[in-house]
Formats: sequence, C-alpha cells, structure tokens
Amino acid sequence: MYKLAKELNIKGWVNNSSSGLNIHAEGDDLETFFKRLLAEAPPLSKIVSVNRLDGEFVGYEEFTIRKSKTDEKANVLISPDIATCDECLQDIRTPENRRYRYPFTNCTNCGPRYTIVRSVPYDRERTTMHSFPMCQDCTDEYENPCDRRFHAQPVACTACGPQVKLVDAKGNLVDSLGMDQISAGAIIAVKGLGGFHLVCDAGNSETVRRLRQLKERGAKPFALMARDQDSAQKHLEISPLEEELLRSPAAPIVILNRRKESPYALPDEIAPGLKTIGLMLPYTPLHHLLFDGSYDFLVMTSANLRGRPLIYENEKALAQLNGIADYFLFHDRDIYHPCDDSVIRVIGRIPVFMRRARGFVPLPSDLAVDLNRPILAVGGELKNSFCLAAGRQAFMSQYLGDMAGYENFQRFYQEVESFRAVVNIYPQAVAHDAHPDYQTTRYALDTQLPSVNIQHHHAHLVSVLGEHNRQEAALGIICDGTGFGMDSKIWGFEFIYGNAQGFERQAHLEYLPLPGGDAGAKYPLRIAYMYAKSLLSPEDWGKSQTLWPQLGSEERAILDRQFESGVQIYPTSSAGRLFDAISAILGICTYVTYEGQAAIELEEVAVEWLHNQEGLTELTPYPVELRLEEDIYVLGVGSSFSSIVKEILAGRERGEIAYRFHLTMAQAMVETAITLGVGEGPLVLNGGVFQNKLLAERVLELCHNHNIQVMRAKMLPPGDGGIAFGQILIANEVLRGV
Ligand code: ZN
Ligand code: ZN
Ligand code: FE
Repeated sequence: MYKLAKELNIKGWVNNSSSGLNIHAEGDDLETFFKRLLAEAPPLSKIVSVNRLDGEFVGYEEFTIRKSKTDEKANVLISPDIATCDECLQDIRTPENRRYRYPFTNCTNCGPRYTIVRSVPYDRERTTMHSFPMCQDCTDEYENPCDRRFHAQPVACTACGPQVKLVDAKGNLVDSLGMDQISAGAIIAVKGLGGFHLVCDAGNSETVRRLRQLKERGAKPFALMARDQDSAQKHLEISPLEEELLRSPAAPIVILNRRKESPYALPDEIAPGLKTIGLMLPYTPLHHLLFDGSYDFLVMTSANLRGRPLIYENEKALAQLNGIADYFLFHDRDIYHPCDDSVIRVIGRIPVFMRRARGFVPLPSDLAVDLNRPILAVGGELKNSFCLAAGRQAFMSQYLGDMAGYENFQRFYQEVESFRAVVNIYPQAVAHDAHPDYQTTRYALDTQLPSVNIQHHHAHLVSVLGEHNRQEAALGIICDGTGFGMDSKIWGFEFIYGNAQGFERQAHLEYLPLPGGDAGAKYPLRIAYMYAKSLLSPEDWGKSQTLWPQLGSEERAILDRQFESGVQIYPTSSAGRLFDAISAILGICTYVTYEGQAAIELEEVAVEWLHNQEGLTELTPYPVELRLEEDIYVLGVGSSFSSIVKEILAGRERGEIAYRFHLTMAQAMVETAITLGVGEGPLVLNGGVFQNKLLAERVLELCHNHNIQVMRAKMLPPGDGGIAFGQILIANEVLRGV
C-alpha cells in the first residue's frame, strides 16, 4: 500500500488495528489507488471486506505508516505458517548473502505466523520473536517499505535472530546440523515450526525399523520429506493437483501412491503393508539445509509418545525422547501454538483433509448466518479439533488428537485458552457432543456457560452443509467408526435428513453385536467372530469354524459366553467396525495398532487386486437387503456376510472379495439414498469412512451415473476433526430464542 501511495502521489496514513487495516488517503486519483489496491494485493493476502467512507480533508504532506492499535473488537486475521519462498531460499543458498545458510530466514511472503503468535494485532512484540531485538541491518529492512522484509514480524538474521544447536543424548554440543549423523544411521529430534519431528534417513531400513520399535508405533505409517519434487517423482506418482498441493504455501503431507516400477526403492518399514506414502516437501530453511546430506528422503514423523501430544519444548524433548533420539537439533525460538503437519489425500479430484493443522490454522470458515452470540464448540473425542465462532466467522483449531489421553486433553485445555487470544473470541455458549463420557463433554459442562448437546452424526451433516453455505435440509450418508446415538446405541452408518434446525434418521445399518464397545475396536477378529455368529445361519456358522484359527479356544469361549449373556456387548450400526470385521475375516488385519488400520489395509488389498487385473469384467456386488422396520429403513448385511464366508472357504482371492465388498457398500449407499427420495440431491457424504478413496470414488461415480449432486467437506476433514463446525451452527439454532 505504501509503495502504491508513493507511486500515485497519495498522502495520508495507514495502520494495522485488530479490526483490520485503516487507510486515510488524500490525493487526485483516489479511484485508481482504490482499484489498484484491490487488484495488486500481495499473493498471500485475503481481503474479507472493504468499507469506503468520506472523511475530513486534513492536508497531509506525505504518506506514513502509523503504529498498530489494539481495539476491543478484533477481526483481523492471523495468517497460517507459510513455507519458505523462492527468494528466501535463494538468500540461504548465496554465499555473499548475509543470510547464507541461516535457518530462520523469512520475509513478508513466508515464514512462521500462527505458531509464534500470542495475541492480536500481529506485531513482533506479541510473538515469540519478542526476545530477539533486531540488528541494524534487519531494522533497516523492516522499516523500508520497498524491501521484501518490510514489517515482516519474524525477520531475523545470523547476527540477531534465533540459533540452532545440535547436542547428543548426553547434552554435549556437536558442531554440525546433523547431516553426517543422519547419513550414519542416527535418529535426530529436530525442532521445527510447530513442534519436534523424529528424523532419520528413510532409505536406511535398519534405522527406520529401530525408530518404529523405539516409538512403539505398531504399523502406523511414517511421513516422509523429499529433497525436492524431482526426487519424489522417481518413486511416487504425483498428479498435477497433488503437485500443486505439495508446493503450496501450506506445504502439507500428501498421501501418494508408490510407483509400480520401483515398489521397493523405499523400504517397507516406512509404511508396513501399504502401497501409499505420506510425503511433504521442505517448508523451512532448516529443512532445506538438512538436505545437504547424501539422502533424498527423510522420515519426518511427529515427535510424540504413544497417545501423547506433540512435543514442542526443548526440555520436554530431552526428557521424553531420551532413549529414542540419538541427537537433538534444538533452536531457541519458542513455539506458542504447537501444530502437527496437515495431511491431505486427493479423493474424487478434490483435496480431502485427513488432518488439518499447520499451514491452514487459523484460516476462518465463513458462515451464511450471523451468530447470535460467540460460541465455543468442543468437537469430539478422537482426532479432536475445537471451533470458536462469532459473527459470520468460525475458526477451527489445529488437530489435537485423542482426548482420552490425559496429556492430550491438557493440550486441548491450553489451546482453548490461547486460541481465544488469537481469534479474539470469548464464547458465551458452548456446544458439545451428546456422548456423556467424552472428556470434551465434561469440559463443556464445567465451563458454566449455557451448553448445547449435539448428536454426533447430525454435526457431521451440518458441518458439510455449512461449508457449502446451505441452510435448507438435505439427505446425508454419514459413515464413521462411532458416535453416540439418540437411542444410546453406537451409531456409525446413518442416513439422516436435516439441517442446523434438526434432523431425522431415515435409515441405518442393522445393529450388530460389538464385543467390548469402543475399546473392542482394537480386535477386529473378535468383531468378525461376533458378527458372523449373529448373521450366519446355523449351517453356515458350522462351516465357518476353520476361519478362526487365530482366536484361541479360551478367547472363543469368552466371546461365546458374551454372545449368550449380552454382557459387554454393544449393539452398533458402525460402518467402520463392519469394514474392520471384513478385513479381519479375510486375514488382512486381525489386530489394530493405529486407528483405522484394518479398513485402510482392506482398501489397499482391494486396490492392489484391481490394479493387477487386465481386461476387468464388471463384478456384481454382494446382496444387501433394505427392509422397513417400523418407520425406519435398515440395511441388512447377512446375505453379504454369508456370501463372503462361502467365497473365502471356496478359496477365492481375498483382494477380489475386498474389492467386491467396497462395491457392495457403495451400491447399497446410493440405492438406499434413492429409495429415501434423494432425487437430484444434494446428497451429503461425510464421516471418517469417506477418507477411504476407493469407496468414496465408487460412490461418487454411482451418484454421477444417477445424476445425484454430491456435497462433501471442503476445507475441513470428513472425520471427527470437522464436527465442531457443525456443532457451532446447530448450537446457534438451539440458542436462537434463548
Ligand atoms: Zn520469503
Ligand atoms: Zn539481524
Ligand atoms: Fe464421527
């Protein structure tokens, strides 16, 4: 703005306030100034609204930039963290540049933002950069309106800014960034933008295996960082959209397929049993410098202990990663908002969030309605994100993990407090899930604010409607692992019709006996056993006995007793558990070490089988019966189950069965929606099960064939990381008259 004002001979001033940018402009060509201001706004800026008012003519002699003001009512947006720009990369690569190899180089177009901001307005003194006074050279850049670093709050250089240091596990200083140590097979805890990563050479299968064991990670895949796109392309398939995502300012992890021609170039230990790899590109100068080593791929996995939150403080890293990391690459710029890497997968030609955090938080979602009062929505229990909303904007927090873990819940508590200062929203009401035992439900009730209890799948439906600014009711297929139902049963494969004002459950998967409730989800083979026992005819059940060799006789006896007595048996319509059961009965995954594993591996086996087919003949789905029970449709999967059991016993390939099962579910979903009168739609698809690419794309294809318009999540995850947004909109309706 300053540059433009100078060019057009405009006088007056500009300042940053917490409610936005204020400009006082005097001059002959205000119209051009105004037009060009909008047209030539910096690439990363987002103009939400513009107000033009006639003011007093003062007769200023020049155009000046005034100091920021703090208002009570703040609407100015804080930017998410932004990957290193090309110019800054050039700076650290140029030996003559004073920022040569400086790991914290940044400018107005790149660098840390949200992770270092304590409160608004966004100025250096309110970030964790406040403890680094700028040197004269940096001050000159910071104050020069024509410099790329003009008012770049985190600006720093070797002379005045944060520094890195490498120490070994005993705390001894090592004069290096750790490249040689990585090449030699070391595991290094690296402090980054949003927290620590555990880093090692991804090509070294022995080290990767050691990291997996030390981290007690089971089979959960590790994310990789590639030197650059060219290196990545050699081993992974990257579509133009995926390339765009990888190189975007947010630089998320993108789930990609391994190339068929070099399937073993990257060791299996990175993602055991999977053909997909989660990959990102370097997004800080420190990452770029780490790739001065001889490797092309680094494992970059969030440094947290099992069930615990991301580590972001030096002392905690030393204490908690003792025995895991051989070295620690520390720096002294504090992280204020710890943030995991975001994870995206392209499904049905659009990016779908698996996890939304760094690079996207705290971007707001716009609301079609004006909220009556500021609201906090606390989200769910697994993969929690909460939401603060006021007026016509809703701000989703970063992914915070599973609230059942005490320390994760502490992190939730801490972030609710500190997020308020960033978005400047102080809630007067709180929305929570209907589940009485969620940590977040207890938190909500403890706030003493007026609270609204919201059914889980209703929130999933309204979240998507809200993202599309739709207020009219629509039918949604909401498929996930678990959600507390209105009948106190565990729901999870639901056809619900409604909007923020209410909903009606119109169809669901038949209730099946889940042994051990939510905790039983770890043992898909037990689930398969119970489902088979309840669904198969006595004759088929007798024949299926050879399918359970992995269940010991004692385990089976317990399950049999549970089945007879109904003790510790929870009826569920969960879609997730049905996928788990099929995965187990096919012998693909019988014990789960990370959330979603059984279903993810089932999908992978199906996709691999499909890719190996030449001249595929169209397979028919297994039979699913839709029956009307009282006033609700129920999807019966008994015939599907017995067909699958018969095919397994007949020795049919498990990949084919896995694929046909996906077809079956997709077809049952779309046919049921048609029976329920979806017409031309829109049909909402949401819930964590729609992170299954094979299933989701098959459903999309069928909807396309039937001319049904589909609505999916756009900037929020389809899983429980997106429900807080729906909770806001529903709570607002409930509280309307209160
Ligand atoms: Zn830059
Ligand atoms: Zn400096
Ligand atoms: Fe859910």
